[in-house]
Amino acid sequence: MSSANISPPSEIKHPKSFLEEVIAATPGESHLMNCIQCGTCGGSCPSGQDMDHTPRALFAMIAAGLKEHTLKSNTPWYCVSCYYCTVRCPQSVHITDIMYTLKRMAVKEKIYNDAKAPDFSKTFINWVENYGRAFELGLMSMHMLKHNPFGVFKMAGMGVGMVTKGRMAFTPTRIKGMDGLKAILNKAKELEAVA
Ligand code: SF4
Ligand code: SF4
Repeated sequence: MSSANISPPSEIKHPKSFLEEVIAATPGESHLMNCIQCGTCGGSCPSGQDMDHTPRALFAMIAAGLKEHTLKSNTPWYCVSCYYCTVRCPQSVHITDIMYTLKRMAVKEKIYNDAKAPDFSKTFINWVENYGRAFELGLMSMHMLKHNPFGVFKMAGMGVGMVTKGRMAFTPTRIKGMDGLKAILNKAKELEAVA
């Protein structure tokens, strides 16, 4: 099927269904309407065994309008953005981008079963917005302190080992061109607010 049959997001000004909402919130053309439920994506996914639903099942749920059920699924949070499903999809569905859309929607609408993954994303984004890159030690420490304080002691040995072997930085460093990155991020937020 060619992409000529697809309604691009720009044509969905006022989404009426959850399916249209997801398409409108995905940058570019998601091609989600072209999903033929073949299951190639789930069969290709390295995280499939940990997911509540395969990407195929998730897309069927979206088409059925099961918004809350979809956003509560752990599937998007287990997606590691490897893009393997996307390159293998016979219908060119932008599966990985849709996973990001679902994560954004879940955070925005506070619909999720387990707050750990959304919190991890927020902490990660916070580091990137302030330093231009992730700071692994800070990211892990903050996350563990909030969700599993006793786990900090278990992880401490590994963290020290990684720092002493130079595999992980002890302090965060800001990238050059932080002003440029902030301008890009502010513009993106501006565009998202009017979308
Ligand atoms: S591989 Fe593509 S067409 Fe097949 S189920 Fe997954 S998204 Fe749908
Ligand atoms: S991009 Fe995500 S959903 Fe697709 S195969 Fe990789 S982990 Fe699975």
